[in-house]
Order: sequence, then C-alpha cells, then structure tokens
Amino acid sequence: MKIETYSCDECGSLRRESNHWWMISQIRWPNVTGYCILPWCDSGDRDVLVHLCGLECIQRRLSKLLSPHREEPHAKES
Ligand SMILES: [Zn+2]
Repeated sequence: MKIETYSCDECGSLRRESNHWWMISQIRWPNVTGYCILPWCDSGDRDVLVHLCGLECIQRRLSKLLSPHREEPHAKES
C-alpha cells in the first residue's frame, strides 16, 4: 500500500485523513489563464497547481495568483 503525504503549499501543514483540503488547478484557454478550486480528490493530480489545507490558505494563495504580478507566482510577499 502506497502512502502519500501532502503538505499545504501555503502554510506547510501536513495532510491528515480528517482534514478537508482543497486543490487549485490551472486552466489555460487561448490568451487567458484561469484557476479552478476543487475539493480534495486523490485522482487527477496531474493538473493540480497547489494543495491547500483550508479556506484561509485558499484566500492567501488566490490573492497572490490574481495579483497583477501573476507572472511570478512563486515570489514571496513581504
Ligand atoms: Zn495551509
């Protein structure tokens, strides 16, 4: 049996069975990039951009993704 542990891409928490986690997936259309927020799902991992442990982390990550400096998604905010 394969056991995988995920950590939150925003705060670094480790995922446990009881947690209600979320994923953000990137959607590319011609000339535009969008984001899709999904409840945790163990399949379909390929298109997932980030794994997040809760609403707070979703909000933090979305504010980064949707900021004008979208071309630098890994830049740290001060
Ligand atoms: Zn988190």
